[in-house]
Amino acid sequence: MKAELIVLGTGSSVGVPVVGCQCPVCKSNDPKNKRLRPSVVLKISGKNILIDAGPDFREQALRENITDVAAVLLTHLHFDHIMGMDDLKTLSHQKGHPMDCYLAESHYDEFKTRFYYLFEGVNSVKTLSQFFTPHLLEEDSGSRAIFDFTLHYFSYFQKGVKVNGFRIGDLSYVTDLKDFSNKIFEELKGTKILFLNMLRLEAALGHLGLEDVVEIVEKVRPEKCYLTHISHAVDHQNVSKLLPKGIFLAYDGMKLAFEV
Ligand SMILES: [Zn+2]
Ligand SMILES: [Zn+2]
Repeated sequence: MKAELIVLGTGSSVGVPVVGCQCPVCKSNDPKNKRLRPSVVLKISGKNILIDAGPDFREQALRENITDVAAVLLTHLHFDHIMGMDDLKTLSHQKGHPMDCYLAESHYDEFKTRFYYLFEGVNSVKTLSQFFTPHLLEEDSGSRAIFDFTLHYFSYFQKGVKVNGFRIGDLSYVTDLKDFSNKIFEELKGTKILFLNMLRLEAALGHLGLEDVVEIVEKVRPEKCYLTHISHAVDHQNVSKLLPKGIFLAYDGMKLAFEV
């Protein structure tokens, strides 16, 4: 079955341009140097599946005319990946039924703390259960039947924080990857389109550098690898020229087809 991915954002946690920064990338007129916080939407058999809902979700949804989201998959609970949940709530409110929300079981207590005001007992009129149906991913890797396809998930770490990567069909979306075991290569085997995080060319404390990306790509051998979670240290045109064959910088608004 044919499916489509729309890139909603490819920025680092602070986005590009960075507030207050006067660097050439932040001042650039190239639309590919404008990066909202990282997120993608998958369009599969008429349903929109969102991966992460960052602080720019509202702007991204208006830009791409997203008027319905069937499910949201959360990689982890850092600000740049979940602060759009309140805006997402508006959609489930309009539809009159809760939206499916997939997240690691070990993240759920923190999730409830972050969004305490949506939970029963705090606000008796609107409770979180009216907006989201939580689906807790208990294992370090596993699968779930979701609508008429299968969602695979697998975890890895970023500075001690557990993060989930997702695979649907021949697409794998892996962001905020830093520490991982070789098991990840089994999960990614056969992936044709691979998303990876690369903040800048050199490795960062919580992110892969180009050398790490190349190492992973050589093992997984996807047809195409797209980089996301990109900082203002990366000028789209200049850095694109430096990338090995088959590795590309993703950009906001980019669309691509994949197979489920
Ligand atoms: Zn992040
Ligand atoms: Zn800058």
